[in-house]
Amino acid sequence: MQWQQPIPKHYLQIPKAALMERIAQRKAELGERLVILGHHYQQDEVVAFADFVGDSFQLSRQAAQLTETEFVIFCGVHFMAESADVLTSPRQKVILPDLGAGCSMADMAQPEDVAGAWEVITDACRDTEGFELVPITYVNSSAAVKSFVGEHGGAVCTSSNCENILRWALQDQKPGEHPKRKIIFFPDQHLGRNTAYRMGFGLETMATWDYRAARGGLTDLQIRDANFILWKGHCSVHQLFRPEHVDDIRRRVPDVRVIVHPECRWEVVQKADQVGSTEFINRTIREAPIGSRWAIGTEVHMVNRLAKAHPDKQITILSDCQCLCTTMYRIDMPHLLHVLDHLIEGQVINRISVNDYDRYWSRVSLQRMLDITSGGPIASPPLPVPVKQSDDDHLPNDILGHPLAVIPG
Ligand code: SF4
Repeated sequence: MQWQQPIPKHYLQIPKAALMERIAQRKAELGERLVILGHHYQQDEVVAFADFVGDSFQLSRQAAQLTETEFVIFCGVHFMAESADVLTSPRQKVILPDLGAGCSMADMAQPEDVAGAWEVITDACRDTEGFELVPITYVNSSAAVKSFVGEHGGAVCTSSNCENILRWALQDQKPGEHPKRKIIFFPDQHLGRNTAYRMGFGLETMATWDYRAARGGLTDLQIRDANFILWKGHCSVHQLFRPEHVDDIRRRVPDVRVIVHPECRWEVVQKADQVGSTEFINRTIREAPIGSRWAIGTEVHMVNRLAKAHPDKQITILSDCQCLCTTMYRIDMPHLLHVLDHLIEGQVINRISVNDYDRYWSRVSLQRMLDITSGGPIASPPLPVPVKQSDDDHLPNDILGHPLAVIPG
């Protein structure tokens, strides 16, 4: 997470109606030079100005397709804006209205800790014949971690395609076979555990790497015996849902269907009726029969929006805890207007720009994900492969701008 300098006080004193009017006016003035992207978990009054609403990867792909758009304002969190910067051309400028909008989960995997874990695991398994370690990172991670993963032969995954990516990483290794080929999964232990379990791997095949403990808190034997080494990260929002919330809603609402996001802990997922990404939840609710009853385990703004959009269905959040993404909530109308005012004056502030080295390797890890999910051959990294000297390294634009394949929506 970065530090956001407080915006001038007068922005915070503008009445809501005037804020809305001024944002709309600025947006109209910038016309096609600007696109505003809004994540599903964003508050309604910000989403109202979004040209596209979706999950983080959908939105980044959307931005990448708008090659003529000069400014991309990402109303989400830091890692999402980084992905948008990686996927758009170097000419396009990605802006995060509040630099303090980070993601606690992404922050739990720092690149130096990731590199340290890699060394320890490799060392612990050095005598294992045929040993291979494959890094997989959830898209909710920093560009530096995606870059590490790309450089070390791994791929990014989303909550929708995680199983597909894990199958690719395991090749033909089945549950019960000796884990010569291991996966280290960043940064969300729950998505990794829930997906591997659904694929038939028992909890005993998974070890949790505690990044705050020496050697991840694991013995060499535990490392060698594990098929999956799960980084001990979590989403502070989805972590709030507990198994007793499922029991409680089932007691209170007859025939309720419980649908949760796979970032929820394993015990909650075991009790739910359905599990899936934000897009899966959206689609399931949209297609659900009139009169059906739903308890949803995901961020509250998305749940409230679904309830409003489907008054013919009974929709509630799985728990009444404060299940909102507090960092995403930092993006509000005053901060949005603040960056727009600067754009009108010709100044780009709060630009999110990934260094050239991490841009190159994170594109490689994202491209692998696209190749795997489309079933095509895995593209080799484009040449020349950069050499890291400093964060200011610059690669030729034709390398930075190599197009990514687009998977169908
Ligand atoms: S909901 Fe969780 S994973 Fe998503 S941005 Fe917020 S803290 Fe990060």
